[in-house]
Amino acid sequence: MASQLSSLLADLSSQVGPSLEILTQKEDDRFREFAKRWTDIGREIPGAIILPESEEQIQQTVRWAAHSSVPFVPRSGGHSEWSTIGDHGVIIDLSKYKGIEVDAANKKATLRGSILSKQVAVALADAGFFTALGNGNPVGAIPYFLGGGASITTSITGFGADQILSARMIDATGEIIEVTEEKEPELLWALRGAGQFLGLVTELDIKIHPFSELGNAQGAIWVGGFVFPLERAEDVARAMKPLMDDSTKATAGLMMIMAPPPARKPCVVIAARFTGDLDKAQNAYKPLYDLGPIVANGGPVPVQNTSDAREALAAKGDFKRFGVVGLRRFDVEKFLQVVEVWKTLVEECPDAINTAFNFQWDSRPPKAPSFESANSLHDLRYWQNNLIWHTDPANRQRVDELNDKSIEIMRGPNRAEYADFQNGTRTGPIELRFRGEGKVEKLKSLKKKWDPQGVFTRQLLD
Ligand SMILES: Cc1cc2nc3c(=O)[nH]c(=O)nc-3n(C[C@H](O)[C@H](O)[C@H](O)COP(=O)(O)OP(=O)(O)OC[C@H]3O[C@@H](n4cnc5c(N)ncnc54)[C@H](O)[C@@H]3O)c2cc1C
Repeated sequence: MASQLSSLLADLSSQVGPSLEILTQKEDDRFREFAKRWTDIGREIPGAIILPESEEQIQQTVRWAAHSSVPFVPRSGGHSEWSTIGDHGVIIDLSKYKGIEVDAANKKATLRGSILSKQVAVALADAGFFTALGNGNPVGAIPYFLGGGASITTSITGFGADQILSARMIDATGEIIEVTEEKEPELLWALRGAGQFLGLVTELDIKIHPFSELGNAQGAIWVGGFVFPLERAEDVARAMKPLMDDSTKATAGLMMIMAPPPARKPCVVIAARFTGDLDKAQNAYKPLYDLGPIVANGGPVPVQNTSDAREALAAKGDFKRFGVVGLRRFDVEKFLQVVEVWKTLVEECPDAINTAFNFQWDSRPPKAPSFESANSLHDLRYWQNNLIWHTDPANRQRVDELNDKSIEIMRGPNRAEYADFQNGTRTGPIELRFRGEGKVEKLKSLKKKWDPQGVFTRQLLD
């Protein structure tokens, strides 16, 4: 198989020319660098890593893979569990192809290839704009938008998928498809939420928003932190419940059960955000100040820098995974049960000390778009959003078990009460990721049309 792949790679190289870099030497530093991922869970070593530097080279590579039946996965930022493949296949790594153009007059931007979330945020801010972006600066922006895209500005902008205006996609046969409302409305519907399963998107046009929509002219968000000892979890949860449910004040953020370095003392940390008139932020968080936190800080931060403090979580390597479930409400008693599960986790698996069990809220509902799409998250403003992070392979199973247990506690048994997130999971019933009548059936029929062989994952086929 290895020799068959190398002769096929030689064909690709002669078709495209010497400018196409193909890495095959697994012990070389450059190969190892490009094989790194955010998580080592399930990470495999590919037969080759191909680094096209133009849309034409990407297309030639997909065509070659299709004609020679070589399995592949695209890779943009490498911040998922899924841009990995064993040595029977290759990675089409888009690192050398990236860009952004901002069209301020038409309030849109064109994203190319592997452009990262932070690069998008900075380019937009330079022009006085922002858009829906998540918590991870080095996350690939295009996959983020294609997979739904939960954002710190969801109540103002809608989800990432709601920003998508049009796309250029290479399909399973290697054809470039212009995905616009006029030419391919059904495919556009599907790319807005299920876009990682239908083709390789080389370009995405997205909606952008002027700073004024943040409620202040500076383009700033109030970002704050409150730290309490874990023994005070009940007081904090009871104070947070009405705060999180109060949609008259634009609060959002994460309530985290964790043991931050260097002291590693178990804490409840509130990573707080506030949008609008920033002078009102402290008043909105008065219930937390009143509890007397060990640490309380906060102030305006330019919107493009709001995730900078979370940079350490985005580093590559170790066993990491998100445990995510969308919820309809916050339940204090369940949260306190989850605190006990976290304690068990760090006691039984000391290598999992970086793990944080997080409850995420936005006091205001997501902004609904004026169109239908595959994305079905608009009824949700609460999430359990755990970040598990550990190092000892012997604890792999136990860490997953306790993560799953905490998710089960928060969501309860009733399926109508929760939803799965397509950017967070690819297992479990697909109806929990794409809810709504006929949605899964429509996606399955589009998958059959555009990718019947499962070149871009077997999702929606099996
Ligand atoms: C620290 C951190 C914070 C995060 N925060 C958020 C958040 O706030 N909100 C949120 O919604 N998500 C968040 N995510 C999840 C993240 O948005 C998704 O995992 C996203 O798909 C990662 O994109 P990537 O390019 O970095 O990863 P990759 O692993 O490179 O790609 C992700 C998937 O998309 C496929 N793919 C890559 N490029 C393309 C392409 N051009 N066309 C089609 N398919 C492609 C890959 O094969 C893979 O299956 C976060 C992840 C991390 C690690």
